Amino acid sequence: MGLFDDLVGQEQAVAVLSRAASAAAEVLTGGRGAGMTHAWLFTGPPGSGREEAARAFAAALLCPDGGCGHCDLCHQVLIGSHPDLETVRPQGLSYGVKDTRRLILRAAGAPTLGRWRVVLFEDADRATEGASNALLKAIEEPPPRTVWLLCSPAPDDMMITIRSRCRVVTLRTPTTAAVAHVLATRDGIAPDLAEFAARASGGHIERARRLALDNDVRRRREAVLSIPRTLTGVGDCVAAAEKLVKTAEEEAAAVSSVLNEAETTELRKIYGEGSSGKGLNKGLVRGGAGALKELEERQKSRATRLKRDVIDSALLDLVAFYRDVLAVQLGARVELANADLHHDLTALARASTPEGTLRRVDAIMLCRERLAANVNPQMAVEAMTLSLRRP
Ligand SMILES: [Zn+2]
Repeated sequence: MGLFDDLVGQEQAVAVLSRAASAAAEVLTGGRGAGMTHAWLFTGPPGSGREEAARAFAAALLCPDGGCGHCDLCHQVLIGSHPDLETVRPQGLSYGVKDTRRLILRAAGAPTLGRWRVVLFEDADRATEGASNALLKAIEEPPPRTVWLLCSPAPDDMMITIRSRCRVVTLRTPTTAAVAHVLATRDGIAPDLAEFAARASGGHIERARRLALDNDVRRRREAVLSIPRTLTGVGDCVAAAEKLVKTAEEEAAAVSSVLNEAETTELRKIYGEGSSGKGLNKGLVRGGAGALKELEERQKSRATRLKRDVIDSALLDLVAFYRDVLAVQLGARVELANADLHHDLTALARASTPEGTLRRVDAIMLCRERLAANVNPQMAVEAMTLSLRRP
């Protein structure tokens, strides 16, 4: 039904959410609405569609037709302009207590359109400890019509006290076939390309879509996956690390500059700088300069996060590559994510042992942990490429 149809391979979650949406509609007409809860936690691996599921549920709560997907209200939910929907998308590495308190105040108001007030909190695991405590109080005593939809990769990413007060909806990684089907039918991508992209991105729909549609993304994947075969000397390892970090910086910078420019222009407009570009309006200079500085801080923090996310996604590509090598070494009859690189996979499989491959996967995972702990990317990646080389 409607927007729930877009959730690929998530039949179980959809069943739970549909029941809850009907229960919520019952509440609005004075019924008991058993099955409806005020706090939800959407979890699932990257690409499983946590946010999409939460958004479809928000639409089901706010649309009089249960999230039909084609009325004005559904459209407003999808583009984030519905007056009773608060979407929180932390741009930096963490979300602080000040922002959270403001959010809680906004969430407490009565619904403008008489149904629900919904807060969709993406990456809720980025909430700081202080923010989490504030959040906990808000979910413990929710106003009668406020619904919290928190999203995080795993339930463990949230404070146990928050988790235990939420109904947990677990999304799964959709199968290659399901992802390929969506790419072909929804995005009109040729079946062969859809199949390749779905396999290469391990069920991550958005990455699969970008891989299929964007040549640059395909080129970057090829560059990353060529690393294992280039690591013969120590110099190669250093060079490979440098290249990986630099490519990530470029990609992150490209994304950042588009976002930054739009935001800065918007802010300058608010503070009265005309299109003539004669500088900020005199009366508003002080506030404008402060706001601009605050915006720049936020943008810097987002750029750091973007760069880290890009490197992490390259590392996940490498993990998938070595997992394929291991499968070849063990003669396991599983679907290979990088079947297109069969030649490289078999060459590496022959040149090393399963133990060596497992050690390499560990080295990549350690690098991911170091990056998450704020270690200098160049140093962390270099340590990794050096361990990938060791026999
Ligand atoms: Zn609708």
